[in-house]
This record gives sequence, structure tokens and C-alpha cells, in this order.
Amino acid sequence: MNEFELIARYFQRPAKRALLGVGDDCALLAPRPGMALAVSVDMLVEGRHFFADVDPEALGHKALAVNLSDLAAMGAQPAWCTLALALPRADADWLAAFARGFYALAEASGIELVGGDTTRGPLTISIQVAGEVPLGQPLLRSGAQPGDEVWVSGELGAAAAAVMVRQGQQLVLDASAMAHCAERLDRPTPRLELGQRLRGLATAALDLSDGLVGDLAHICERSSCGAVLDWSRIPRSPMLAGLPEPLQQQLALAGGDDYELCFTAPAARSARIRELAQALGLPLSCVGRIEVGSGVRVEDGRAQAVTLAQHGYDHFAA
Ligand code: ADP
Ligand code: MG
Repeated sequence: MNEFELIARYFQRPAKRALLGVGDDCALLAPRPGMALAVSVDMLVEGRHFFADVDPEALGHKALAVNLSDLAAMGAQPAWCTLALALPRADADWLAAFARGFYALAEASGIELVGGDTTRGPLTISIQVAGEVPLGQPLLRSGAQPGDEVWVSGELGAAAAAVMVRQGQQLVLDASAMAHCAERLDRPTPRLELGQRLRGLATAALDLSDGLVGDLAHICERSSCGAVLDWSRIPRSPMLAGLPEPLQQQLALAGGDDYELCFTAPAARSARIRELAQALGLPLSCVGRIEVGSGVRVEDGRAQAVTLAQHGYDHFAA
């Protein structure tokens, strides 16, 4: 199988939404009138973002999911993507499984693969996504105001627990809890519907890839404010229940890979946010408040400071 056979076999499907898809020098795309394009790219490198023995179908899902999560965080509707792949070899079984995972999520989320690049090299996957968001309505990181409430979707900490176990740390998780945590790590669900429904409701939003405390600090920085989180209101994954509390705090507040959304909104909108949670069948929890100042503080239920060993992941930290 040469490069062009590989592309034709696994990554070329008829264009529906694009004017021109895979096969020419460029794809041709036309966003609908009144729409801005939200564009983002993420790279996944073996040994850094995933383990060498990861199931290729799960990897196809995850590589796209983490990018869709960025579109969700902007309130954008997925439209088109490109896929750059470096592969150590053209392994037909691996490619078929990767493409299955990728296309299952692509079709479910309405995004179309319109081009890419394929080369030999250490396994690296880079996907660029583009989505549409009505002009003037994107969810930015910069709109939070003192007094706003801080919300998160879903449950936190399970994916980070799976990372620790795979790195060889013994956690007291039974087999079914570990299976649940591994599923959260390997097959995150981008909160696309939530993101779009938060347009006009949230003042700021981002997706949680590196851990709540570190990620919320980005909203604070861009919005020139601080935040206080209440540990007793954090929706920690029930899978963490048997773990010591400081470890639960580390996983749920500073563990990454959950790909839930964190957003801020004026307190007067909390009833609408609770209605949205009902409508989506997705828990939305109010976990803190934006305040004047800078940085993110965490308090337990009795206003005592909670301290964490590590706040989030930084690839270039010393
Ligand atoms: P060029 O040399 O112009 O970059 P390529 O030979 O790399 O073109 O690619 C040929 C066509 O196949 C292009 O339309 C490109 O976008 C597409 N393509 C290449 N690799 C992939 C991939 N992994 N997934 C989807 N489309 C791809
Ligand atoms: Mg090329």
C-alpha cells in the first residue's frame, strides 16, 4: 500500500458539506453567511499524549474528540477538519481501526474530513478543526466578571485516575472502576451541544484538558479577575470514592483529560443553566465564584484553604 492508496482507502469519502474535499491541492470551504469560522489544531504524540499500546480505534476517537472539545468551548458547531498523520509503517489493521474510531465520532458530530497530510515518522496525529459560530456570539475566555458563578459539566477526576494507574501507581480502584476511568480517558465526550446552548448564557468558557484549577486560571487571566472554588461542590467522579481525600482533590481539581466544559455566568442565570442541564441530561454544577483579584483559590466546605501539589500540566515545566 503506497501513500496514495492509503489515503484513498482510509481517508477519502465523498464531500457533503465542503465544496471540494480530499484529492486536490486544497479543500474548498464556504461558511454560511453570518458565521465566523472557529479554527483550532491539536497534536497528539505517542509517549506524550497516549501510550504506545493504546487501542487504535480509541485513538481515532480521542484525536478528534480533543479538537471537537475546543469547538465546544467556543460555542461552535463542527463543520470541517483536516488530519495530518505521521506513521511508523502502513499497518492495514491499525489504519482500519483508527479510521473506524475517527469516522464514528466525525459522523456523530457532523464534521467532515476534507484533507490532510500523510508521512512516515514517529506516530503523531494532528487534527485541525473548523466550526461555525454566529458572528458576535462565540464563547471567549475573556468575558468573566466578578460575581459570576463558575460551573462545570459532568464529573471530574476519572480520566486522571486512569493516567496514574497506567503510569504504574497503585490506586485502590476495583476492576469495574478502573474500566470506567479508562473509558473516560480513552473516549472523552466533547460537550458540543452544551457549548452551543451556552451562547448568550455563559460569559466565558473553556474546555478542561489540563485540570480545573489550571484551566480556570486561564479564564481569570484573560478576564482580569480571580476565582474561588468550593471543594465540597466539585462533582468528583464516584470512582474516586475509596481514595484518600488529598488524592481525590489532586485528581478532580488538577488532573487533566476530562474534556468537560468550565464556564462562568451571572448568578441570575442559574435557573436557566439548571434547566439546560435537565434538557441535556448532563449534570452542570456550580462550583465557585469569580471575584476581584487574580488567580484561583480553593476552599473546602468550611472556608479553609485547600492546597494542591500540582495545578495542571505544563509540557515545558522545569
Ligand atoms: P500535497 O502534496 O498537495 O500536499 P498530498 O499528496 O499530501 O497533497 O495529498 C493528496 C490529497 O490527499 C490532498 O487533498 C490531501 O489533503 C489529502 N490527504 C493527504 N493525507 C490525508 C489524510 N491523512 N487524511 C485526509 N486527507 C489526506
Ligand atoms: Mg501533502
